[in-house]
Amino acid sequence: MKQPTQRVRNPADYGYPSPDVTALSAKALEVTRRLTEYYGEVPFSNKDPMSMLVDILLSHRTRDEQTAAAYDNLLKRFGCWEAVRDASTQEVQEAIANVNWPEVKAPRLQAVMRRITEERGELNLDFLRDLPVEEGAAWLERLEGVGPKTTACVLLFSVQKPLLPVDVHVHRVSGRLGLIGKKVTADNAHALLQALLPNDARTIYNFHKALLRHGQRICVYEHPRCSKCVLTDLCEYYKTVVKPNS
Ligand code: SF4
Repeated sequence: MKQPTQRVRNPADYGYPSPDVTALSAKALEVTRRLTEYYGEVPFSNKDPMSMLVDILLSHRTRDEQTAAAYDNLLKRFGCWEAVRDASTQEVQEAIANVNWPEVKAPRLQAVMRRITEERGELNLDFLRDLPVEEGAAWLERLEGVGPKTTACVLLFSVQKPLLPVDVHVHRVSGRLGLIGKKVTADNAHALLQALLPNDARTIYNFHKALLRHGQRICVYEHPRCSKCVLTDLCEYYKTVVKPNS
């Protein structure tokens, strides 16, 4: 069985010779505070965990608006997740045609739905609310196509379990700020960043949403807009790359 995201044990994993984990933790909290103040706090989702899993599986490499349209289209066309599970794959693929790779996502979605039904006797993930976070994560990660990011999104967004999802934006902004070293991969960043935050779903959610929005709007992939950023005094990239060249 695959293992869920673990809290980090070895400070050397941060990618620095001698990381001061206490200082990194204080910096992560200050980043969260400033960006949450700047962008505003996002409420938790009202979606149940099964609906959230569908949403996240549709969203891979797809814009938020397209994901939302495909999700709404599935419910409009089939009425419930059981009907999506039992429909022909071609019909499901047509309903989600606007997301990237519908031909991959439609059969995967149905296979996950069938597996959940086989194991639980119904297409429902509400039992995750009552499981400890590690058990819930291990259960989800056994499903084909469900990795640590999808698992963390489902558990944090829909049932408020303290597990941090790291997407490309959270990974890039964390690296530029110096919360993790340059060579730390997104997969390894889950545990490292989570270990800098308190074991509290609201703070973890605020950190995730804050860095996601910052990465989409200001700390973008090409040419970060540092002149608009409220984090310049905390940022390694700004101190070492932007400022010396300005
Ligand atoms: S100062 Fe620039 S590189 Fe650093 S977080 Fe802000 S936008 Fe990103």
